[in-house]
Amino acid sequence: MEIDGVDLGTTRNPATLARRFCPACGWSERSGRDATVGACPRCRAPGAADSGQLLTTLPFRRASAYASRELAMRDDDTDDRRRTRFTVLTTVATRPDDIMGTARELDGYPFGAEVLRTADIRWLNLGPSERGGATRMIAGQEVATPLFDTCIHCGVVPLAQRGVRERADARHRG
Ligand SMILES: [Zn+2]
Ligand SMILES: [Zn+2]
Repeated sequence: MEIDGVDLGTTRNPATLARRFCPACGWSERSGRDATVGACPRCRAPGAADSGQLLTTLPFRRASAYASRELAMRDDDTDDRRRTRFTVLTTVATRPDDIMGTARELDGYPFGAEVLRTADIRWLNLGPSERGGATRMIAGQEVATPLFDTCIHCGVVPLAQRGVRERADARHRG
């Protein structure tokens, strides 16, 4: 199955949310389009204030495909099936109160363990890896962020459609 569109909601009730991400730690927060912050409230990184840290996100709810099952099965038998790789970043945000005790190093390993009472874990799909895109710092990691171009009317993602190279060639949903 290939997914070539997303549900953006309606103009009055959009499904998308603007969210601001810290370049240095796992903090992120819903944000108004025009809202500004001085620095990250968690780690004080001033870079959290940059406009590039504000992304339009679409929280995952469900996936659907319009292609018929037979078509999808026939497609899967052909050699031109595509495996699209996406850049997915995991962020973990927690509050200082939620850290229990101190972090422990594990003998003989380059990592340790820390117990958190609660944490917000998010998976961010930043777009198809092969498309490159502007580089951003999010949660201490430098990542290319091609993101997803979608039609604001029908939610189709033009470049996710088979054989489509130019946005103008996309097939839209009426
Ligand atoms: Zn931070
Ligand atoms: Zn459209």
